[in-house]
Amino acid sequence: MSTEGVRPTGADSDALGARLKAYEGRPAAVGGVGKDPVNAPMIRHWCEAMGDTNPAYSGPDAIAPPTMLQAWTMGGLSGHEGRTGAYDELLGLLDESGCTSVVATDCEQEYLRPLRPGDRVTFDSVIESVSGRKTTKLGTGYFVTTRTDVRADGGLVGRHRFRILKYAPARRKPPAPRPRPVVNRDNSGFWQGVAEHRLLIQRCTDCGTLRHPWLPGCNACGCLDWDTVEASGAGTVHSYVVMHHPPFPAFDPPYAVGLIELTEGVRMVSNVTGVPYDKVRIGLPVRVEFRTYEEAEGALVLPVFRVVEGEGEGEGEGEG
Ligand SMILES: [Zn+2]
Repeated sequence: MSTEGVRPTGADSDALGARLKAYEGRPAAVGGVGKDPVNAPMIRHWCEAMGDTNPAYSGPDAIAPPTMLQAWTMGGLSGHEGRTGAYDELLGLLDESGCTSVVATDCEQEYLRPLRPGDRVTFDSVIESVSGRKTTKLGTGYFVTTRTDVRADGGLVGRHRFRILKYAPARRKPPAPRPRPVVNRDNSGFWQGVAEHRLLIQRCTDCGTLRHPWLPGCNACGCLDWDTVEASGAGTVHSYVVMHHPPFPAFDPPYAVGLIELTEGVRMVSNVTGVPYDKVRIGLPVRVEFRTYEEAEGALVLPVFRVVEGEGEGEGEGEG
């Protein structure tokens, strides 16, 4: 997508803005005719939908609710004829300049006299104003206001202004950084191993019990001395949850979080990858894989567990 046209070329230069300004006052639609005359059934439906029980809108002397002004000019699903070249040109210029998105921002109505059942509505629209270049939360672009003059039997009954912002969408914020593991004196050996693509399990040098997560002492015998064994990396999904909510900015829910039982007997929490989140099952065989995430504050290596090929009947990629 090009945003050339909305990028300032000088201090305050807005060449595109000047070209757009030239469209002010040119017709946007001419010779519009309401598809139906003002009528009691449409008024009744509108009042029911809006919950408006004002007695002025029913009975033999009924008027149409003033805020129905636009309803009498709407083209319906099939649209209206009569949109002018000028309006299409203006939108085309904006499209070419990269302002390809559009959002309706507000509408204003003026009422000069009430409409009554039987009135036949005609209307014309004019490009009333084009703003200078504006930067909004959505992106940078131009506000275009069209004014529709609504007439009945030749007399002006109301005006309807409709403002849109036609803009180049702002670049999306970069994804939030992945939370980094808390590395401390007790577990730094584990993360050192991960950085070297080795999955290390702590082992009590007294009774030989393996343990994970890493702890200062042995839960079985209390001994504080330990060494490590390198895990084969093979395991199975012992249990899992699928995260839907709350969303966390660094991740894209839903995703599966697995409790992996390594063949050595210890368990660890990690991502299950290689299958869609809804194909993760207890007992699936998995194998460790070291993934490197390039992040602003440096590369982050994490052990994840990929479903062993041919299992989980998955196509696509589970990601989390
Ligand atoms: Zn021990």
